[in-house]
Amino acid sequence: MEINKIAVIPGSFDPITNGHLDIIKRASKMYREIIVLVAINQDKQANLSLAARVRLIKLAIKGLKNVKVDKTTGLTVNYAKAHHAHILIRGVRNQKDLAYEKKLAKINQKLAPSIKTVFLKANPKYVHLSSHEVIKRIKNEDDISSFVPKAIIKQLKINLGY
Ligand code: ADP
Repeated sequence: MEINKIAVIPGSFDPITNGHLDIIKRASKMYREIIVLVAINQDKQANLSLAARVRLIKLAIKGLKNVKVDKTTGLTVNYAKAHHAHILIRGVRNQKDLAYEKKLAKINQKLAPSIKTVFLKANPKYVHLSSHEVIKRIKNEDDISSFVPKAIIKQLKINLGY
């Protein structure tokens, strides 16, 4: 039964947004346990340290009983195998995301055939929301209250020196 499984939600979460949190909440109703995994994306220069990203996620997921957060500097599939997780969950906002996610899922499938990737369609409310957009708004001193969980706003600004 799928519901009894452990699912990993990997990503940069640089920082976590309401779009990510929406995926996490929906996934938490589908599986027994959810691990939000902060991983390094070699293609992206990070704004926040891994530790800072984990701390922000901890604030955002407070109250979600079957959700925890962890980090890895290695491959997501290796982490998943070591933690008995057989599902990876990725959010898909648009065609561009879908093409990228399909490619990634194929690579992970080759690396670890026992692990399945599940795509969740982004909530229409958040299809235009990205971590990059949040950072841009903070730098412009624009309002971010509808973009990130309320619980992280203060800490996020401190982390970025604003
Ligand atoms: P990565 O660098 O691994 O793509 P991100 O933190 O940018 O990490 O994204 C992690 C996952 O969350 C990806 O599957 C991405 O498509 C998805 N995602 C990002 N923003 C949103 C959003 N607004 N709504 C739904 N899913 C999203």
